[in-house]
Amino acid sequence: MRLISYQSETGPRTAVKREDGYVDLHRADPLFPTQMKQLLPMLSTHREAIIEATKKGRVLEAAKIRLLPPVVEPQKILCIGLNYADHAAETGATVGDEPVVFNKFPTCLRADGQPIELPKVSDQVDYEAELVVVIGRAGKNISREDAMNYVAGYAVGHDVSARDWQKGKPGKQWLLGKSFDSFAPLGPELITADEIEDPHNLRIQCRLNGETMQDSSTSQLIFRIDFLISYLSQICTLKPGDLIYTGTPPGVGMARKPPIFLKPGDVVEVEIEKLGILSNPVVAGS
Ligand code: ZN
Repeated sequence: MRLISYQSETGPRTAVKREDGYVDLHRADPLFPTQMKQLLPMLSTHREAIIEATKKGRVLEAAKIRLLPPVVEPQKILCIGLNYADHAAETGATVGDEPVVFNKFPTCLRADGQPIELPKVSDQVDYEAELVVVIGRAGKNISREDAMNYVAGYAVGHDVSARDWQKGKPGKQWLLGKSFDSFAPLGPELITADEIEDPHNLRIQCRLNGETMQDSSTSQLIFRIDFLISYLSQICTLKPGDLIYTGTPPGVGMARKPPIFLKPGDVVEVEIEKLGILSNPVVAGS
């Protein structure tokens, strides 16, 4: 299944894709919640009922759909740094036996089509194409063997990064450079885990104004999804709707000679095989 969150007159709602458009799931069957976070744990347990409801529901007028990020207010956005061997090499970093982890805030999220706002205090804003894992069930101390049962689905993500705030800050913190408003575009759709046979074998690309800047495969991930879920769940309880940005392949702007940074008027597209294309314009922010 492919799902979206969209802004209705009464607030965020969830819709499921079928051949001729999107169906509001709660309107099709009030058994289902309006919010993606509440729906996520039901995706595996109520799969057939969701498909039935989607069949009999009414298709939303395409013009009325204002897309939101698939998960509107996740409790946590966890991000993995340096998770592709060749990207780590291009930044001059060495890879340890444990991942680099940082986070973003719900205020970073933007839907497909919404602008990335360049903050006034940075002139080194960079792009990063990323596969995003959406957690579907709550869990703590999840074993690696059981980890994939906690995945509700996947989405295309963009880890926008202000390099001048990421590098050289006290304690080598990454948080500030990664958490400006609009620095986590996500979507357009959430694709349920059953649709993706092997999440570790998907082509992942980033295009800046139509030119390919990153082109790799999730087969290159150093720390795999099952490991990441198990590792992170030692620290905090994972909740439905939590997002894991899994890291970016080589080709980022910072590592180019000369470096390339985003400027107003740019358009960044992230494409992941089977998941879709996330496209965001870049504008001057505040
Ligand atoms: Zn990243």
